[in-house]
Amino acid sequence: MLSKIILQANIDKAAKFFEHADKIIIVSHVSPDGDAIGSSLGLSHFLETQDKDVHVIVPNAFPDFLRWMPGAKDVIRYDKYGEFADKLIAEADVICCLDFNALSRIDAVAKPVAEAKAKKILIDHHLNPEDFCQVVISHPEISSTSELVFRLICRMGCFEDITKEGAECIYTGMMTDTGGFTYNSNNQEIYFIISELLSKGIDKDEIYRKVFNTYSEDRLRLMGYVLYDKMQVFPQFRSALITLTKNEQNKFRYVKGDTEGFVNIPLQIKNICFSAFLREDTEKDMIKISLRSVGAFPCNKVASEFFNGGGHLNASGGEYYGTMDEAIQLFKQALVKYEDLLLKN
Ligand code: 5GP
Ligand code: MN
Repeated sequence: MLSKIILQANIDKAAKFFEHADKIIIVSHVSPDGDAIGSSLGLSHFLETQDKDVHVIVPNAFPDFLRWMPGAKDVIRYDKYGEFADKLIAEADVICCLDFNALSRIDAVAKPVAEAKAKKILIDHHLNPEDFCQVVISHPEISSTSELVFRLICRMGCFEDITKEGAECIYTGMMTDTGGFTYNSNNQEIYFIISELLSKGIDKDEIYRKVFNTYSEDRLRLMGYVLYDKMQVFPQFRSALITLTKNEQNKFRYVKGDTEGFVNIPLQIKNICFSAFLREDTEKDMIKISLRSVGAFPCNKVASEFFNGGGHLNASGGEYYGTMDEAIQLFKQALVKYEDLLLKN
C-alpha cells in the first residue's frame, strides 16, 4: 500500500476537472528530460483511456534517447508548431503543468498558458511552486513527477487503466530522475511502485538499455576529452568543475543531449561532494550551468545565489549571461563562500 501523500482535496478536484473536460493539454519544461517526457506521456496515456482528447506540448526538442517512448512522436514542439499549439492551448478545458514550478520554465509557452481559460493543474516536485494553477500537487519530497502521476492515477481509483505503454513512460521518468535509482531513491514506496509497473508487463532492463546505452561514438569521445583535458578538481573544496566551449562542442559534432550526465561523473572521485558543468549554449548566448552534490550540500542555493537558477538540493542549474571566464570566477567565489558547508558535508 502507498501512503496517501497527495491531499484528498487535490485528488477530488483534479478528478472533477478531468471528468468535465474533453480537451486536455499537458505541458512540460524547456529542454525536457526523462521525467518531463515520462510524466507527460504517462498521464496522457491514462487520459486517453478515459476517452479524452489529449496533446503534450513542450517548448523545444528533447534528447534522442527518449524518442522510443510510446507516444513520443506525437509530442508537439512549440518552437516548431507554435501556432497549432496556441490554438490547442486556447481551446483546452484543462491544462496540466508537469515537472516545473514556474511559468518561466516553459519559455514561450508561458504566455498562451497564462492567458488560457482552461482549468490548470500543477503536478511537480520542485520547491516553491508559483501560484498559477487552481490545483497544486507539489511534492518536493518525491523524487520524480512521474511517481506523482502514478500516485494520482491510483488515488483516483484508476490503476487498472494504466496501460503497458503508460507504465513504460512512468518508469522511465522515475528511473531518469534518480539516475537509475542511485540517488533520491531511498523511499521504499518507489520499489512498491516499480513492482506495480512490472505487473503491467514493462521490461525495466530493456528501458535502462534504451535510455542509458544508446550513445553515439561522438558523445563517448567528447566524454573522454572532457575528463582527460577539461575537468578541474579542487580537493581543498571537495569540488570539481568541467567547462565546455562552443568550439569544443563543434569539434565533437555536439548534438543536444550529448553532455547529459557529465556533471555527475566527478562525484565518482573519493571525497568530492560538489560538481559543476559549465557549457556555452549553442542556441542562446549564455552559459548553461548544471550543478550536482551529494549529501546535505545544497547546490540549489549556489544555483539561485550565483547563477540565476534553482532546483533540488542535489541537482540544480541555472544560466549565466556573460563570458565563460566570468562564470568560472563566479563558481570559484561560490566555493570560497560555501567552504565551511562543503568541508563539513
Ligand atoms: P540539469 O542540470 O539536468 O539541466 O538540471 C537539473 C535541475 O536543475 C533541473 O531538474 C531543474 O530543477 C534545475 N534547473 C536547471 N536549470 C535551471 C534554470 O535555469 N533555472 C532553474 N530555476 N532551475 C534549473
Ligand atoms: Mn523531474
